[in-house]
Amino acid sequence: MSVRRAIPHHPIRSTRPERLLTLGSLLLVIAILSMVAFLLIRERANAELSATRAASNIVQLIDADVLRNIQLYDLSLLGLIAASQREDLKSVSPLIRHLALFDRATAAPYKGDILLLDNQGDVIADSASVQPRKGNFADREYFQSHVNDRTPGMFISRPFKSAEADNEWRISFSRRISGPHGEFLGVAEAAMRLNYFDQLFNSLNIGRDSTVTLISKDGILLALQPRPAEELIGKDFSNRPNFQRIVKEGNGSFTGTSSLYQDKRLYTFSKVGDLPLIVIVALSSDEVYASWKRTALVVSLATLALCVSLLWLTWLFSRELRLRRNAEQELAQLAATDALTGLANRRTLDQVLRHEWFRAQRSGMPLSLLMIDADHFKDFNDRHGHQGGDDALRSLAKVISAHVRRPADLVARYGGEEFSVILAETDSQGAQQIAEHIRCSVEQLPLTGDAEFPMTVSIGISTWTTKSDFSLEQLLFAADKALYQAKESGRNRVVSSG
Ligand code: GH3
Ligand code: MG
Ligand code: MG
Repeated sequence: MSVRRAIPHHPIRSTRPERLLTLGSLLLVIAILSMVAFLLIRERANAELSATRAASNIVQLIDADVLRNIQLYDLSLLGLIAASQREDLKSVSPLIRHLALFDRATAAPYKGDILLLDNQGDVIADSASVQPRKGNFADREYFQSHVNDRTPGMFISRPFKSAEADNEWRISFSRRISGPHGEFLGVAEAAMRLNYFDQLFNSLNIGRDSTVTLISKDGILLALQPRPAEELIGKDFSNRPNFQRIVKEGNGSFTGTSSLYQDKRLYTFSKVGDLPLIVIVALSSDEVYASWKRTALVVSLATLALCVSLLWLTWLFSRELRLRRNAEQELAQLAATDALTGLANRRTLDQVLRHEWFRAQRSGMPLSLLMIDADHFKDFNDRHGHQGGDDALRSLAKVISAHVRRPADLVARYGGEEFSVILAETDSQGAQQIAEHIRCSVEQLPLTGDAEFPMTVSIGISTWTTKSDFSLEQLLFAADKALYQAKESGRNRVVSSG
């Protein structure tokens, strides 16, 4: 049995502080995680940005070099065409003519042979020798292209392997020679060893798993560094999605999966001037983000450890708070109850009575007080021993409590074999009814099987109403007096004061 109602001066503390603590820590953890995530994401973007910048610089460098070189080839071709059309050169010796025709050709590095072809494709001048080689190149793609296309632009061929010189990969640059009325007179053609690109790309430090590529805008691979095991020069990449995107965008960068190496790469690319060539630098994502990944791992682990410790400390602290609150509640409960019966004790009775007294004054509702005293309890003790007396007191407490059911009411042990009942908002008549029920029930208690001396109680009642004009002390005194009268008039009865 426990105190039936909340005790005014010991309100049960809410669990708020723990909840606030847990909520606060959770918010703190979320804030820390968001902040770290934000910083890591920004760092990653920075890593990508600087890699893109570096790659873009490399692309521009290659662009400029390739463009300058091809311009040199073009100069040679233009020089050759201009010289070939001079009437005065037709009358000089073959050696002088050779010198004049290939005058501007010497500057180009990695150059292959430069040829002048007539409109049938026959070689009529050859940079390799004063006496031109015997040969016909009418079936070559570039020759056919110039026959059909009157526009004066330079034609860049697909890569091919030169039959005569050490089987090296080459590409050729060619221009059409047109007569005054646009008629086809022949072709000037210069070959370049693709080795040139390898040398150029090799001189750049771009990282172990990254590549530099030169590709024609038709998707034909011209150079790739580092060289893969498989021969890829001359292969058609026009179907690959990355290449299609690069052609569409012209200049820029993006991250995509390499169809060649099956890994993620950061592609940076640019067209080479107006030429149908594209330079692509593909940096391996692993390399681009390697340093960021290490930092992210360390920072994430440290943050995780921090958050876990924080949550663990919070849990420890809130457990401590909970234990303390439980202990406090237990103490409060102990301080408010009577150890023998578990009813409210005298202290609680005083507090609650005072509280109900002022409440009744404010509301104007009646307030009744019962004083219950076991009859001849001294004799009972004598007959049944102190232990039996204690058991009887516990039973009495149970019986009294069973008749007092409203939450605002209170049953208390006043002391010894005396009990008090506060009946809030109950008038004298209601109090008498309850008292009578208690008296009857006690009388019928089969406490000890002692039919000769049944356990009985005498009950005194006092009631405050708006009509009565007395104090709280007088209310108590009146209940005591009524109890005394009940004893005087023969015990086992209920007497109401007034
Ligand atoms: P009356 O009818 O006039 O009330 O007679 P009474 O014997 O009950 O009254 P009295 O005040 O003379 O005696 C009260 C007795 O109650 C004295 C004591 O032995 C007994 N008593 C008081 N407190 C306890 C208790 O905690 N346990 C037990 N077993 N007995 C108690
Ligand atoms: Mg007594
Ligand atoms: Mg008594």
